[in-house]
This record gives sequence, C-alpha cells and structure tokens, in this order.
Amino acid sequence: MKSIWTESARIPGRNPLTGNKRTEVVVIGAGMAGILTAFYLQRHGLHVVVLEANRIGSGQTGFTTAKITSQHNLIYEKLVRTTGEETARLYGKANQLAVEEYGKLIRRYNIQCHYEQTDAYLYSVQESEVLSREAEWAARLGLPASFVRETGLPFSVHGAVRFTGQAQFHPLEFLRDISAGLTIFERTKVLKVQGHEVVTDKGVVKAEKVVFASHYPFVNFPGFYFAKMYQEKSYVLELEPVNSLKGMYLGIDERAYSFRNAGDKLLLGYGSHRTGKAPKENPFTTMKRAGEHLFPEAKEIGKWTAQDCKTLDGIPYIGPFSSLRPDWYVATGFGKWGMSSSMVAAKILSTQIVGRKTPYDEVFSPKRHHFKAAAGTLVSHGMQSVKGLSAGTVPGAVNCPHMGCRLVWNRYDKRWECPCHGSSFEINGKISAGPAQQGIPFID
Ligand SMILES: Cc1cc2nc3c(=O)[nH]c(=O)nc-3n(C[C@H](O)[C@H](O)[C@H](O)COP(=O)(O)OP(=O)(O)OC[C@H]3O[C@@H](n4cnc5c(N)ncnc54)[C@H](O)[C@@H]3O)c2cc1C
Repeated sequence: MKSIWTESARIPGRNPLTGNKRTEVVVIGAGMAGILTAFYLQRHGLHVVVLEANRIGSGQTGFTTAKITSQHNLIYEKLVRTTGEETARLYGKANQLAVEEYGKLIRRYNIQCHYEQTDAYLYSVQESEVLSREAEWAARLGLPASFVRETGLPFSVHGAVRFTGQAQFHPLEFLRDISAGLTIFERTKVLKVQGHEVVTDKGVVKAEKVVFASHYPFVNFPGFYFAKMYQEKSYVLELEPVNSLKGMYLGIDERAYSFRNAGDKLLLGYGSHRTGKAPKENPFTTMKRAGEHLFPEAKEIGKWTAQDCKTLDGIPYIGPFSSLRPDWYVATGFGKWGMSSSMVAAKILSTQIVGRKTPYDEVFSPKRHHFKAAAGTLVSHGMQSVKGLSAGTVPGAVNCPHMGCRLVWNRYDKRWECPCHGSSFEINGKISAGPAQQGIPFID
C-alpha cells in the first residue's frame, strides 16, 4: 500500500543489526513515537539504539493524515465529566505544548517538511450545542478554542470548534531529518524481550531500559495491553487539484468526513470502524461520491487505509510498561491523534528514563484506573474479544496468530482483520499490523 507520504519522501536506508550489542536504551519501533523518543533520549545524553522490523516510518505513521493538533475530536467535555477538570487540563496542556514543540524543532533544525501553521475545526452540519460546550470547556482549560459558525468548508455548518495555531506537515520528511543522527537498525525484528535482553532475528541487544514504541505492544504478559486496547481503521482518499480548501477539519456527525489539504491536494478521510468490523457500504465509494459532489474539478489520485489503537478511557498509555518490569516503558493508544501524542510520549518517557518526573505522568500512566471513563469500552471490548476467541474454535476458521481469534475478511481493504485486537494481514498472508508478529498461511 502507498500513501501521499510514502510516494513523496525517500528516507535513506539503514543496515540491519549485525551480531550482539550493548546500549543504555533500546527503542522498539521507528514510527513517530519511537523516533521522537529516541531523539529526546539522545539529547539527554543517553546512548540509544532503535530497532525497526521494517523501515523508518513504514508503520501507521506512513499512512496518517498528519494533523498536528490538540483538538482531539470531542474529548475535553468528556474528560472533565469522567476524569475531572485537572486531568482534562493536563491532557490538553501536554498536547498543546506538543503542537508548539513541533514548530520549535522544525524551525531550530530548519526541517523541510511542508510544515504549515493552520487552524483546526471540529464541525457539525446537524447541531451546535455539543460543539459550543466543547469549545467552552476547551477554552476554560486553557486551549486556543472558540465556537464559530463560519469555516473554510465548501458547505455550511451548524457550528464548529476552532483551535487556532495548530499545524500540518509531511510526517516522513520530518522523520527523515529528525532521525538522521540516531542509531537505527532497520529490517531487524524484535522477537522477544527477556528482562534487559532484546532478542531480534539478527542478534541480541542488552539495554538498561527498553521502550515499546511498536504501535500495539506485542508482549501480552505482563502489561495485559490486549485486554485494554482495540484498534480502529479509517479510509483516506487523495484528490487533486483542490485549491478551494485549506486547513484541517473533522466532522462529528455519523456520516461526516475529515479534510486537510496538502498543497493543492486534498486528503479526505471517512469510515471509521473497529478493525474486523467493516461496514456494509464501501467507504471508498461513499468518499468518491462526496469528492465528486464537493470538488467536481478534482480527480482521485490515491487511496489507502490506516488504523490506530484505542484505549479504554481515550487517553494514551505512556509510561512504565508494568509494575513487574520497571525498566520497560510504553507509548501506545493514540486514538488517531498520534502526532501530538507521540511528542507527548517522547517528552514524558525521555524525562522518566533519566529519573525525573513530569506533571503529566499520572494522567498518561498505563497503571491509572478511570473507571467512569473506561467502564463502557471495557465491557464492549471484553465481549468482542470473547466472541472473536470463541469463533476461532470453529473448525476451518482462519485464526489470528496473536491469540487465536477468528479473522474476518475486509473486502474494501483486501485484508484479513482480527476483531479482537486489530492485527491485520495482506491477501498473501503477510502481516500488515500487530499485535500479531507473524503472518498467516496464504488463503485462496
Ligand atoms: C486514518 C488515520 C488518520 C490519522 N491521522 C492523524 C492525524 O491527522 N493526526 C494525528 O495526530 N494522528 C493521526 N493518526 C494517528 C497516527 O497516525 C498514529 O497514532 C501514529 O502514526 C502512530 O505512530 P507509532 O509510532 O505509535 O506507530 P507506527 O508508526 O506504526 O510505528 C511502529 C513501528 O514499530 C515497528 N514494529 C512493530 N513491531 C516490531 C517488532 N517486533 N520489532 C521491531 N519493530 C517493530 C513497526 O514496523 C512500525 O514501524 C491517524 C490514524 C489513522 C488510522
């Protein structure tokens, strides 16, 4: 699969690991989270080795829409209600600082990555009440938010929340430059981690600390991330030329779209669903129709899918992996907001690893329990997992190598998907997303 980013940036290749090594920190995964974490760890003076199964940026980061924003759908009112005002304030502050940190880095290192400051809008064509409350809460928490009725969209809206001073960029051009000074071994897959030994298919790296930035952690015990995280897939259509729309938009209505421009191209997003639960209607067909209606001058020039991890309470898991493994750390569960969240993770983990605390540790701690925020998702995730596991015992089922759930064919994305934890596989059986770490046999 290709995206606008994978087609337009070339990141110089790195050699695989040869033989055994020793280092202070191993980071597993060279996506946005892993590279930024390694970058800040190195700035703290630590010796860091990044191990990447495939290529830098070849995971979900290569297929994002790359909006850098602290506007994370309808989140602030919900967080205030379910986790309290202070947690909501710290969540917003960490992400807003992350947005600003990208700007600082890009200017300081003169990174050419089509970085543009722009506003982000959350809109509805049906209602304004919920958006007006979201804007009020976000502003009260200190974010650059306001309620508006005018946007740059080619249709009128009932209302929108505008966040000013947000940004968008080319994520792989950014990774190419920010990763340049790091020690990275590509095509080096981590098979298991035993205490301080990271065992790969090319050799063993001994490290004092290990960071799991592999998108979905592939180690089941300890941590139990499989019990507290699922994945959601979305579909993206690339249209050209579109000169009439600039900036970043996300709809909250049931059949709403996400928009962002990339020069004179438009990325249209739609069709979010739990991985393994594709809708009846083809999301690409729906988007094509919308594209033709809204931008009749434009042609479809590309399309792709991506998926991201969703946590029980909607806040990423960033911090120590488990009380049983104090020297392991994790950054996951970005809920489709992985640009700002990767920066939040990099700042928190690099600080924790050098032995200091941040004001955000508790908010993002994988050990937290926000029962009010998590209860509904915990029940539905548990039920989905039990259903998928029991379907996996039916003779002839195509099963996921991760935990044995029955895989489901997604005919729009042409992949086998696990409805339990979201692993997905190409038609030839090759793994395309974890937590599974191996492919499945080819099924005709
Ligand atoms: C459709 C869509 C649109 C999105 N748009 C936005 C957006 O506009 N703004 C935003 O903020 N977020 C967005 N996101 C979310 C964002 O793209 C992700 O959260 C982010 O890219 C995740 O980065 P990562 O580094 O955690 O994971 P990845 O980029 O997947 O990196 C993980 C890396 O780990 C490697 N790995 C895995 N297992 C192993 C192993 N065993 N050994 C070695 N390496 C391993 C993988 O190969 C991979 O390269 C979007 C998500 C979707 C689905």
